[in-house]
Amino acid sequence: MLGSLGTGLRDAFKRIAGLGVVDREAVESVVRELQRALLQSDVDVQLVSELSGRIRERVLKDKPPAGMTLKEYFIKMLYDELVSLLGAEKGEVGLRKQRILLAGLYGSGKTTCSGKIAKWFKVRGMSIGLVACDTHRAAAQEQLRQIASRVDVHVYDQGKSPQEIAKNALKASKDDVLIFDTAGRDALDKELAKELKELGSLVKADEVLLVIPADIGQAARRQSEEFNKLVGITGMIITKLDGTARGGGALAAAHVSGAAVKFIGVGEKVDDFESYDPKRFVGRLIGYGDIEGLLEKAKSAGVEVDDGKAKRLLEGKFTMDDFYEQLGQMGKMGSLSKMMEMIPGMGQMKIPKDMMDVQEGRMKKWKFIIESMTRQERENPDEIKASRITRIAKGSGTAEADVRALLKSYKQAQKFMKMAKGGKGLKRGPLAALAKQFGAS
Ligand code: GDP
Ligand code: MG
Repeated sequence: MLGSLGTGLRDAFKRIAGLGVVDREAVESVVRELQRALLQSDVDVQLVSELSGRIRERVLKDKPPAGMTLKEYFIKMLYDELVSLLGAEKGEVGLRKQRILLAGLYGSGKTTCSGKIAKWFKVRGMSIGLVACDTHRAAAQEQLRQIASRVDVHVYDQGKSPQEIAKNALKASKDDVLIFDTAGRDALDKELAKELKELGSLVKADEVLLVIPADIGQAARRQSEEFNKLVGITGMIITKLDGTARGGGALAAAHVSGAAVKFIGVGEKVDDFESYDPKRFVGRLIGYGDIEGLLEKAKSAGVEVDDGKAKRLLEGKFTMDDFYEQLGQMGKMGSLSKMMEMIPGMGQMKIPKDMMDVQEGRMKKWKFIIESMTRQERENPDEIKASRITRIAKGSGTAEADVRALLKSYKQAQKFMKMAKGGKGLKRGPLAALAKQFGAS
């Protein structure tokens, strides 16, 4: 996600880690690296310059807190600065009965977000209704109906005008959360402002969320301010962070506009959606993911996660059955590489190719193989040696090579999980202290 921004920032952190002494010249070299990364991501020049100033000032003048080296302080401070550049606070959307109105220009991702938000609430146990207030474009309501059927929630679409549809929905609905999908325009003109205002007061929206695509970069600030002035917004959703290098600029701009980013869209699918937490976001960007992110993702994919188990898996203590289950869940959770970004220290690691192309056919074969193992073998796959391999292959009607491939993949996963948890990179690497601070090791 965010492509070059992540790489650039990781380079800046690496540069700090590699510094011999932290003097003016060294700080300057890091600041330059940082500036390059941020400007490339379309962060406003003024913001970049202010941030650079604060870093120079603090690193060269502050005294690091007790128990922290200057280098560690530098790293920690840079992290904190990045977090406050991109948002500072977690965008909370409470799990309560509420009405949410989505606003935004054409193609910003409102209708897609309607489905994503619906799913987000649904997996958290709430009932949802979608209200199809986009009567402006012929196909808009049909698009919403299709999205709704995918997440299995009701659509209210009775009426001719947006106002009438909204009124009918309010009358008919007993849902906890109603999400009003509205029409966009090419620009925030009088007509759009009037329609949104009317709808907002008619439905007494608890939240008016402005949907903005990340690819407009720092222009997000002006758009947010304009919408806020004309219709009043309570927060924002930044979409399409997956497909642009300008996402950093958009997030920073959203933050200075004064409206909190509540959610982010990171892909076209219904699960490519997260509540926005700048700390976690920056953590992932610079390669210190967090286990919470992984757990949340698992939850929205409808996968049962038990914390104790996740911990056990990360420690590499897992049975063949666990391994098989994990593979199945990875499929459900979407791309493995996306998931890896959320595990501490995994962001920068290369994923073994074997783990990536676990195809469905292979999964089926592996299922037979695992079923042919004894309980003892499933619990201690490390003990499976030559003669057992022959027996298992025969019993499952597969080749010995298949059994070996499964064992190899299991071992790789085991090693990988251990690395992620204990963090070879994190333990030995110069960033170890930082990792510890963030609870990543
Ligand atoms: P609306 O006009 O504001 O309702 O926008 P839509 O919801 O119809 O979205 C416009 C296009 O953007 C569609 O093709 C969506 O699939 C796409 N889209 C929406 N959100 C995202 C996202 O987070 N990532 C990507 N890659 N595409 C998105
Ligand atoms: Mg739409």
